[in-house]
Amino acid sequence: MLLLYTSWQYIDFLKSKRDALAASKHKIQALSMHEKVSSMILQKQKSTVAMALSIASDRYLAENIKNRHIKRDYYKELIEKFRENTLYKNIWIQLLDKDINSLYRSWSPKRGDSLKNIRQDLVNVALTKKVAYSVSVGKFNLTIKAIVPLFIGEEFIGIIEVISHFNSISKQLKKSNIDSVVVLKKEFKKQLEYPFTKLFIDDYYVANFDAPHEARDYLKENGIEKYFNNSYKIENGQIIASYELKNKDENPVGYYIMFKKIDTISNMDLDFFMFKWLTLGIIVIMSIAIIVSTMLFFANRRQKKYFHNIINSATNIVLINNRKTLLDVNMIFFKYFDRYKTLEEFKKDNECICDFFVEEEGCIKADMDGVKWVDYLVENHSKVHKIKIDIFGKVYYFSVSASKVLKEKNYYSIVLTDITEQENYKKELEHLSVTDALTGIGNRRYFHQKIEEEIHRAKRYQHPLSLIMFDIDFFKHVNDKHGHSVGDEVLIEYTKLINSLLREGDVFCRIGGEEFIIILPHALRDEAQKIAEKLRAKIEFCQKVIPITMSFGVVEYIVGEEIEFIFKRVDDALYKAKESGRNIVVVG
Ligand code: GH3
Ligand code: MG
Ligand code: MG
Repeated sequence: MLLLYTSWQYIDFLKSKRDALAASKHKIQALSMHEKVSSMILQKQKSTVAMALSIASDRYLAENIKNRHIKRDYYKELIEKFRENTLYKNIWIQLLDKDINSLYRSWSPKRGDSLKNIRQDLVNVALTKKVAYSVSVGKFNLTIKAIVPLFIGEEFIGIIEVISHFNSISKQLKKSNIDSVVVLKKEFKKQLEYPFTKLFIDDYYVANFDAPHEARDYLKENGIEKYFNNSYKIENGQIIASYELKNKDENPVGYYIMFKKIDTISNMDLDFFMFKWLTLGIIVIMSIAIIVSTMLFFANRRQKKYFHNIINSATNIVLINNRKTLLDVNMIFFKYFDRYKTLEEFKKDNECICDFFVEEEGCIKADMDGVKWVDYLVENHSKVHKIKIDIFGKVYYFSVSASKVLKEKNYYSIVLTDITEQENYKKELEHLSVTDALTGIGNRRYFHQKIEEEIHRAKRYQHPLSLIMFDIDFFKHVNDKHGHSVGDEVLIEYTKLINSLLREGDVFCRIGGEEFIIILPHALRDEAQKIAEKLRAKIEFCQKVIPITMSFGVVEYIVGEEIEFIFKRVDDALYKAKESGRNIVVVG
């Protein structure tokens, strides 16, 4: 992202540089247009002077002026020769005597009139006797004039005036792809009695014949006065430069407005500039991208390796999970799941480690009441949880905790610590605490646990529940007569016998020396009585170790009854059985 942004900024920067270069290039172009036109005008003025001087050197001219004998045809031919041999297709000459009377005009047959009061420039030349040249506006046109005094020896005898105009300059500019429109200021409109080109833009006279139509229209549309500024503008894909035309008194008379299309200017240098810096930019950016991505690659690899080393050094199973799948496991994982060598192999066969979970009270399930086990662990990370896992027939207990590794990515680390040994030991202890050591059946404590559970269940599911309590008759005599160890053997063997006669779900406990109780879930009083009777008979006739008998009390649970009360009732029934002669069943 940063690279993209930088590249974008760089291209923007290059573009602005290119634009700035283009702008300065256009400025230089505009200046060169100014220079070109200014030097062309000067050149034209000088060559007009040169022309006038060359005519002035004609040996007949001074004589003819002095004699006031001017042959029209001679000068007509002379002008024709100039037109043929020079670039100047439009030139005019006027010959005047020393008193500023016109003797000859090439454009009119009029002669003999005095221009003393009309043409101050002629008067000035007559006074100073010096060559003058200027840009000026006459009745016909904007012209370039050269005025040369004529002498015979030291004597001033008259003046020759050569007039040319701007068409040739425009033609030369055209060769450099510059269109031009030469316009006069508005105030000269009146003065132009016979406008030579007959072209106008509104009230502004156009002094060159070849002013292109489009250029004139453009100036008309955009307001020509906007361009009377001796400066330049970039508009419409072109450089529009205007050059101020000044008369001999240095007053502006009009403007040379030049148009140069920008696409005619070579852009090679600008394109090369862009190409050069863009290429350099691309190389720099690519190099940075390669360096950064290589650095990131190695940093990432190093970090991964480092991370992997840490989890591999753990003696517990470590899993890295996201919400969907297992991402990584440590080596210990494969000690347990030894069927697999790699995580990929494991994932091919199993979607989730939770497929191996075994449901047990107090253990985490794959689905914790609608919450996924991982989420449940993360939400309850302060507690230590237990998981029972059956890995291809081997059952393990693990304590498990989970925590987020990367918050933004939902990566969790799950640590499983094997507690199978402790768990089994605990279970063993629990078992021993409720088991009678001699007979292996439940002890008095176990009976109390179970009777509470069974009463609860009987109430909840509204099923009957009965109890049978029984006691060996005259057991004291057995001990006395056969010894204590025989007494023990009797207890063991008869317990086995009774156990073999009970249903699954019946709870058989030794609650005193030779006193037993059976909880019979789902059994009505009569059924319990029948069972007790069956037991009594089997004991009497089995002839194990030594013949003995037992007395039985039977009761059925009354809904709402306290444990102490039912226990007393069954005890009373047993007592009655003893009282009634023993080896009988009494129902209470
Ligand atoms: P009753 O018919 O009235 O029940 O007569 P009883 O002799 O069986 O009654 P009592 O309760 O007086 O005697 C119980 C005897 O059981 C006392 C004790 O020596 C014996 N006893 C208790 N626990 C054990 C035991 O674990 N092993 C052996 N061998 N005898 C035991
Ligand atoms: Mg007894
Ligand atoms: Mg007893």
